[in-house]
Amino acid sequence: MSNDEYRRQESELDDLYREIIIDHYRHPRHKGHLSAPSACHEGVNPLCGDEVTVEVALDGEALGEIAYSGSGCSISQSSASMMTEAVAGKSVAEARRLIADFTAMMRGDEGIDPDALGDLEALSGVRKFPVRIKCATLAWHTLAEALAEASAD
Ligand code: ZN
Repeated sequence: MSNDEYRRQESELDDLYREIIIDHYRHPRHKGHLSAPSACHEGVNPLCGDEVTVEVALDGEALGEIAYSGSGCSISQSSASMMTEAVAGKSVAEARRLIADFTAMMRGDEGIDPDALGDLEALSGVRKFPVRIKCATLAWHTLAEALAEASAD
């Protein structure tokens, strides 16, 4: 798919949703590197050429610090930014639940409480474009891998 096609899809997202996504793309939260990560995992989405690396530092049972880096389309990078904001400081169990809820929302599962997801609901608009769902879920699958590595120590 061409860049023009991507931009056209993004322009078709609802205005409010687009604003949230663009805000995170332009002003990424928790972007960078941790000085002493417990685990670091790199995820790629070859369909779109997105790359996201997630670093986590556990503080007991909590996700003390999180950072991401990467490159790719605005949906993949803003989803990573929104994810780090949503899970920072949460317990690992809460982060895992949020990963499950978010990926279920992106699959279109019934029974997900949109209020529990807050701003993350903005990414539900991406479901209109099935090929882009992997862009939105890339950071989340990568976080799940990083948590598994961190907890395995
Ligand atoms: Zn993408």
